[in-house]
Amino acid sequence: MKRRSFIQRTAITGVGMATGATLIGCQQKQGEQQQIAPKSAEGRPIIIPTAICTWRFPEATAKAGALLSQGANALDAVIEGVAVEEANLDNTTVGIGATPDRDGAVTLDACVMAPNGDCGAVMAVENIVHVAALARKVMEETPHVILVGHGAEKFAYAQGFPKEDLLTETEQQKWEQWKKTSNYQPVINIENHDTIGMLTLDKDGDIAGACTTSGLGYKMKGRVGDSPIIGAGLFIDNEIGGAVATGLGEEVIKTVGSFLIVELMRQGKSPQEACEEAIARIVKSPSDHTQFQIAYIAMNKSGQTGSYSIHQGFSMMKYQNSINNDLLSDYVLPLPEKN
Ligand code: ASP
Repeated sequence: MKRRSFIQRTAITGVGMATGATLIGCQQKQGEQQQIAPKSAEGRPIIIPTAICTWRFPEATAKAGALLSQGANALDAVIEGVAVEEANLDNTTVGIGATPDRDGAVTLDACVMAPNGDCGAVMAVENIVHVAALARKVMEETPHVILVGHGAEKFAYAQGFPKEDLLTETEQQKWEQWKKTSNYQPVINIENHDTIGMLTLDKDGDIAGACTTSGLGYKMKGRVGDSPIIGAGLFIDNEIGGAVATGLGEEVIKTVGSFLIVELMRQGKSPQEACEEAIARIVKSPSDHTQFQIAYIAMNKSGQTGSYSIHQGFSMMKYQNSINNDLLSDYVLPLPEKN
């Protein structure tokens, strides 16, 4: 197995995202963000409601951020925020319109974690669009944490979720094409991920998180990645902060990445330092990190945030004070130069 030296590279500044009349687009790197926790004249910390998410999903953070500004709690806001992408037909890795498994079925994974430490998850669910909301129902309406497959689907109908065909014509056609070679490479294209993981901080200083995905395209039937696994794809400790992952789930699971980041923040690391250390663990592992992408985002109780990825190209959205920033992440490996 190849190992590369762990060199931190600096991301180039990217294109800002403006998502509506009330939002200001802006070009920044995560490292350029103001990261000083605001304090009142009396020295008390001021809480600024904040929503962050993986990748470039400005509508999702705008939705969650607007709700937080109106006084919504962190859990309600995070579920509504990720629901934007679950309903987005153009997002081929989340909700309706996602890439199917190798048998042609779209199967979804999601989890949610509340400020009080409760959590819920669903795995390999068919025919249900809003699986993060379903994970919340598992958390709130059952004595369990995880429901899978048909059991999760049956529970969804009992909770009033509609049955919907998740496979679009376009994705069916792509799958028919793929079947001709069935060239299965469980390697994530480093430039194209769409899993949405989101963290929200509300006016009371409470943090919640959600993660929702269809996982790897043309995955083996029954494969589950990190996204619905508490501690791997998502972890919250309301005393400390939260973290969420995207990328090759198998490698995130091996290092229990999101839990690790929260524990590192507990030991005093900033969200940025904690994300970098979690990526460093993967880079140091025997797995060949040149062949897959992993990225983390994190937020602490003061609304300070961090993000880091193996490969160049990852960015996160951050909505704070009515501004929706697209923040390019720092990374270990730059993209190969094109000839
Ligand atoms: N983490 C997801 C999985 O492995 C995929 C991704 O984030 O792109 O299922």
